Amino acid sequence: MKKMQSRSELARSSNKVAKAIALLSGGLDSTLAAALVRSLGIEVIGLHIHILFDTDQKRSQHVAKAAEDAGIKVRTADLSKEHLEVVRHPRYGYGAGMNPCIDCRIFMLRAAKKVMEEEGAQFVITGEVLGQRPMSQHLRALTRIAKESELEDRLLRPLSANLLSEALPVKKGWIRCENLLALQGRGRQEQIKLATRLGIEGYRQSAGGCLLVEKVYAARLRDAFSHIGKDAMEEQDFLLLRYGRHFRLSDRAKVIVGRNERENEILEGFVTGRVMIEPIDTVGPLTLVEGESSPEEVILAACLAARYCDHYGEAPLMMRVIRSGEESMVAAIPLTPDDPRISSWRIDGARR
Ligand code: SF4
Repeated sequence: MKKMQSRSELARSSNKVAKAIALLSGGLDSTLAAALVRSLGIEVIGLHIHILFDTDQKRSQHVAKAAEDAGIKVRTADLSKEHLEVVRHPRYGYGAGMNPCIDCRIFMLRAAKKVMEEEGAQFVITGEVLGQRPMSQHLRALTRIAKESELEDRLLRPLSANLLSEALPVKKGWIRCENLLALQGRGRQEQIKLATRLGIEGYRQSAGGCLLVEKVYAARLRDAFSHIGKDAMEEQDFLLLRYGRHFRLSDRAKVIVGRNERENEILEGFVTGRVMIEPIDTVGPLTLVEGESSPEEVILAACLAARYCDHYGEAPLMMRVIRSGEESMVAAIPLTPDDPRISSWRIDGARR
């Protein structure tokens, strides 16, 4: 392979005829791909797509900062509602968690294609690297994603371009293939070298997938799909799976217990349509009961909630219960931490 050109050589060899949309996730690879193409004299506009499952709720800000540092203007599209349909019914199934990565990439690239057309751009850039992720970055998946997004050769993956079929910007001579890379696998050394060469600093190593990959979130989502129903689940139901400890008492009743003050405040926003339980005379969590729970299950939930309150011994704790706007009091005997029911109820994906 020919030696790569220096940054100034790259700029001199540019033709400034083309414009591209770069899909930015906030990780190093997508930032690098966009910066590399920009360094070749192509006008690059960043596109960040917000979905409900970002692990970092400030991701949009990180993306904007990383792109700004690389001299790239960013558009943000909130497609969180539309993306839920991909999660509910993925054509190509789920990965190790509940991550429908192939469908998700097709969805995002279709959105990027629309922006490409709106902006009068000629192609789309991603930071995908051949063989880096097991589900969506092997050759067959990359080919399928390019085809089904209808971008075909208008999709350029600069970091692995020389291992993939020739993309339009190379065919047209807007970019020379010796200025693109042939990276493969999970290693990061080449990306770090390229970041140094392009003057990219303070980057985050990886955008790290999304919540759907995580074991605990995936277990909660599977449980919710089977008890609430995929199509019946609303945005709020997906959001609530982020917070608290989740316990399934029965097919009818699930209990969510706040883990700290911040989560207790957040859970207050999910009270509508659920039973709320909170301690009266002591410090403890806000607890929600979801589903058509029986009165006995609400008492059991209060005893579970009491286990996480500040208390000494086994004396009952007075708990306030609000159900459909009606308030009552329950004297709840705290479950002991070693009560085996607690771990059997917990929805966390652990094998038991
Ligand atoms: S890890 Fe999450 S955000 Fe990334 S492609 Fe897969 S489903 Fe989509």
